[in-house]
Amino acid sequence: MYRNTWMQIDLDAIADNVKTIHQICGKKFIAVLKANAYGSGDRMIAKTVIDAGADMIAVSSLDEAIVLRNEMYEGELLILGNTEAADCRMMIEKNISAAAYSMHWVTEMTAQDCRGLKVHLKVDTGMNRIGFKDLDELVQAKKILLDAGCILEGIFTHFACSDTDIDMTQRQYARFAAAVKACSYPFEWIHCDNSEATLYFKDPVSNACRVGISLYGIAGCRKDLKHALSLYTRLFMVKKVKAGETIGYGATYSAEHDEIIGTLPIGYADGWIRANQGRQVYADGMYATVVGRVCMDQCMIQMPQYKPEGTIVELFGPHISLCEMADQLHTIPYEIICLINSRVTRVYLSNGKEVLKENARLDISEQ
Ligand SMILES: *Cc1c(COP(=O)(O)O)cnc(C)c1O
Repeated sequence: MYRNTWMQIDLDAIADNVKTIHQICGKKFIAVLKANAYGSGDRMIAKTVIDAGADMIAVSSLDEAIVLRNEMYEGELLILGNTEAADCRMMIEKNISAAAYSMHWVTEMTAQDCRGLKVHLKVDTGMNRIGFKDLDELVQAKKILLDAGCILEGIFTHFACSDTDIDMTQRQYARFAAAVKACSYPFEWIHCDNSEATLYFKDPVSNACRVGISLYGIAGCRKDLKHALSLYTRLFMVKKVKAGETIGYGATYSAEHDEIIGTLPIGYADGWIRANQGRQVYADGMYATVVGRVCMDQCMIQMPQYKPEGTIVELFGPHISLCEMADQLHTIPYEIICLINSRVTRVYLSNGKEVLKENARLDISEQ
């Protein structure tokens, strides 16, 4: 709150994206808010997506589920990933649904009193991460869970290449359809489409989409979705350096001419990784370049024109596309936004106004 570095989250853009994606999918809507809603703050995003019409929230772990359950959210809540039999009672008490992804999981869970545990069967159709690959085993797991008194709420799978490989995705659809058929059970939730599949495939099997990244307007860089996330900081020191002077640890950059160098209060300990050396940032109508190594808490930029201390600098947002940035960093937008950590204040906008500032480490929020 006292440091001039913040991630801005446009809640109206997210609400609009939920409605746009919901219309495209035409089914029930599961919002994937794992990893603190991809770094944007799961509680605020949960409220926003539910108000905008989402029917269920999915997270990756019981810890993430409990944060939402205890603090604000009473609706449908699913853990997509690993859970432990020791936590069976907790999931039942908190009305949190779990993924049944292996015979080991089913055996351990049903060794407890798991009556009333809500379960989604996970089918592995080609990702080879978690889930049942063998249909006989899947059907057997279904029977064991039902006999133990679990509530068989759903069935799902996950695509490996929905953004790159149509044939592979079609094969995964076919395997998923076969799995749903083999179970011959009236599942309330049948889901497989992540953002890319929801936006670009016609899916004959599922009755719900299950999307994460597109909530922020990033998937496929579509024009009908709105970008919701930006990262900002402010220049806090500006100086001139002479030709030949070097910048930062290791003296990796030497000024060719007399240059204007600004210092920013953000570094790799915020998730602004060292690979950002050499990248462009945007400051009040001009682009500047990160020069020298990114430090733990600060970095330096070379500016073509003088700008005063206090000038806002955009690191990604309307002028610096996350998609392009991800290409340049040889990664994906997901990783960039998830890495922005709890030291960075989250500022939420609605109707163009700040509605909340949150800093998880300071444990302060200001309305
Ligand atoms: C993360 C995740 C999603 C959401 O994927 P996006 O590409 O962000 O839409 C869906 N399903 C599972 C199992 C996931 O792990």
